[in-house]
Amino acid sequence: RAKADGRNTWRAFSPEMDAAHLERQMLEIELRHALARGEIALAYQPIVDIETGAVTAVEALCRWTHPRLGPISPARFIPLAEETGLIAALGEYVLDAACRDAASWETPVRVAVNVSAMQFARGDLHASVVAALSRTGLPADRLELEITESALMDGPAVLDLLHGLRRLGVRLAMDDFGTGYSSLSYLERFPFDKLKIDGSFVKKITRPETDAIVRAIVGLGDRLGMTITAEGVETEEQLRLVRDVGCGEAQGFLLGRPGPADVIAQRLRRDRSKAA
Ligand code: C2E
Ligand code: MG
Ligand code: MG
Ligand code: MG
Repeated sequence: RAKADGRNTWRAFSPEMDAAHLERQMLEIELRHALARGEIALAYQPIVDIETGAVTAVEALCRWTHPRLGPISPARFIPLAEETGLIAALGEYVLDAACRDAASWETPVRVAVNVSAMQFARGDLHASVVAALSRTGLPADRLELEITESALMDGPAVLDLLHGLRRLGVRLAMDDFGTGYSSLSYLERFPFDKLKIDGSFVKKITRPETDAIVRAIVGLGDRLGMTITAEGVETEEQLRLVRDVGCGEAQGFLLGRPGPADVIAQRLRRDRSKAA
């Protein structure tokens, strides 16, 4: 047997099976179990109205804490989940958990859920959303779906899906705007309520060229009736600058880091009693 398996055994140590590849395979196996073991949780980050300071929405962000490896970034495991098809189960889980948490908050803020390109392409997103809303009792207008521009393959199926979701009363946000390869024409073609300007622009906003680009995006989004949110706001100066160029909302470490559901619920309660 050892001889018969010899080739395969040696293959496992060949140069192309490098450390990164092995690590990826290991992570894939672990990810298959992560959901069942309850290792995946949601963190929530506030999105704030720049004028009033009120929290208008919170974004649900996936957190995977592996018992041995510790926290693993979604930037690593979401792409892996997409490649392996695990994103379907993960996406359902996130949608359900986010709607359930949001339904339990006393303040009627919206919850924003990230939808991956693959969930989007599978064709059952509409049914998943309907199911999650009915299971959790969350009103449709309290759910916002964040879709990156790279997920938007142009075509009638995509447009139908987006219009169908909007007919439910769900809001649509275009995420990470400016980082994909799509064009400004996407803004008028697809029925988005909100545009989230990627944090990479906010980082460079003191540069005149970046300022000009962001102003152009904001101008266009405004004309099309969209809310504009600046992502990745970390400093007071950035907050002032994104407000000056016309962004209505901001999100970032300056305004609140992602945290567990009970922490955001507490902040929402505090904001409400302050306003009352
Ligand atoms: P995103 O949707 O653009 O989410 C914003 C990311 O920026 C989050 O990273 C958040 O923690 C981070 N962030 C927020 N404020 C700041 C800031 O002031 N400075 C900096 N440097 N970063 C900030 P996170 O949680 O690591 O998520 C990374 C990406 O993974 C997300 O980007 C999203 O595309 C994806 N992701 C996260 N959760 C899910 C999920 O449940 N489903 C899907 N499909 N994708 C998810
Ligand atoms: Mg997002
Ligand atoms: Mg984003
Ligand atoms: Mg981003």
